[in-house]
Amino acid sequence: MLDAALQSTYDEVMRRNPGEPEFRQAVHEVFESLEVLQERQPEYNDAGIITRLCEPERQIIFRVPWVDDQGTVQVNRGFRVEYNSALGPYKGGLRFHPSVNLGIVKFLGFEQIFKNSLTGLPIGGGKGGSDFDPHGRSDGEVMRFCQSFMTELHRHIGEYTDVPAGDIGVGAREIGFLFGQFKRLTNRYEAGVLTGKGLDWGGSLVRKEATGYGSAIFADEMLKARDSGFEGRRVGVSGSGNVAIYSIEKAQQLGGIPVTASDSSGYVVDEDGIDLDLLKQIKEVERGRISVYAERRGGNARFVAGGSVWDVPVAIALPSATQNELDEKAAKTLVANGVEAVSEGANMPCTPEAVALFREAGVAFGPGKAANAGGVATSALEMQQNASRDTWTFEYTEERLTQIMRGIHATCLETAEEFDRPGDYVVGANVAGFRKVADAMMA
Ligand code: GLU
Repeated sequence: MLDAALQSTYDEVMRRNPGEPEFRQAVHEVFESLEVLQERQPEYNDAGIITRLCEPERQIIFRVPWVDDQGTVQVNRGFRVEYNSALGPYKGGLRFHPSVNLGIVKFLGFEQIFKNSLTGLPIGGGKGGSDFDPHGRSDGEVMRFCQSFMTELHRHIGEYTDVPAGDIGVGAREIGFLFGQFKRLTNRYEAGVLTGKGLDWGGSLVRKEATGYGSAIFADEMLKARDSGFEGRRVGVSGSGNVAIYSIEKAQQLGGIPVTASDSSGYVVDEDGIDLDLLKQIKEVERGRISVYAERRGGNARFVAGGSVWDVPVAIALPSATQNELDEKAAKTLVANGVEAVSEGANMPCTPEAVALFREAGVAFGPGKAANAGGVATSALEMQQNASRDTWTFEYTEERLTQIMRGIHATCLETAEEFDRPGDYVVGANVAGFRKVADAMMA
């Protein structure tokens, strides 16, 4: 139950944003957490800050025409939602996936505001993307799509304005095509206009690994806070993209035994622990399906078509695929199997019912806006390197990332404590993330 004033703000936001379920879900979760703040500091709502924060500063929707390998003209839709610039230039990834629509981009952009605020670095929140499906497209097709996408996007971005990066479907290859087109259109080597660049042309070491590393580090911090850890324990990971692969890598470094990975065709479970080199070869080099992993690995690895990766008993779960992938049923299975910590590597991978269940069961639950902030934090470190025309070592950059993740964890815990919700990382992340942006907006 929200207090009457907060409820009326919520109703107004809902009225303005019909038919965008993921966006409404993300907003609802934040309002539930803001209740504790409203009791002590109603001035934010009284000043209209919450209503203002829920409304993007700017939303850009554009046509992206491109020519496929058969010579046929294809049309997709491009988006960039410049959500909030109170703390710095808009910052957030681009997602290329057929499910992308305005509501999805708004949900991701909204989450990004709080996430970026939690990093403590000077970055505002934004997100973009397209309903373009890169699956099965040739390099040439992806390049022509990216060039057309940037032909419109370039007039809206800049190192002091808006700095896109990757997300699902956008990696170093796509950032390269986008950066090349930006450079050609503007005749400027403005390295800080995009992050996730290749290492030879302004990219940062550890950026590729950062989201996954960060989510495992966040899980480790949550476990340490309860005198527990990764050592010798089974870890469940969903997805097999960038976030999943490097969550597995860091979980292994921390002594855990990751046993799963998945893609849209199903999941693999490898009782001997995931062979990371093989997974990287299949996913990063060959861009193949996850079933190939089980075929080549043999032994105790098997592929399960369809089904839920969360049926596999694990002590630590790192959902790293996509939004709402882990539902109430999956959460029940995980809890029954004794899961101790869940750290969201993807954005909002757990449904609200699943999150409620974890919290009731006393599972340490790290929400995405805190747990997966390592990616965007390292993007901000890439911007720092670009601005100073410098490159940092892997060790130094990873140390910075680790400190940032520990800082986010501490901020969430302290804020939860401050509002008499000890151990509640959801309230901690939402309130701490919100307060900093809100104070900047007030100022
Ligand atoms: N797409 C990532 C995220 O969801 C990273 C964004 C960035 O590096 O700007 O946070």
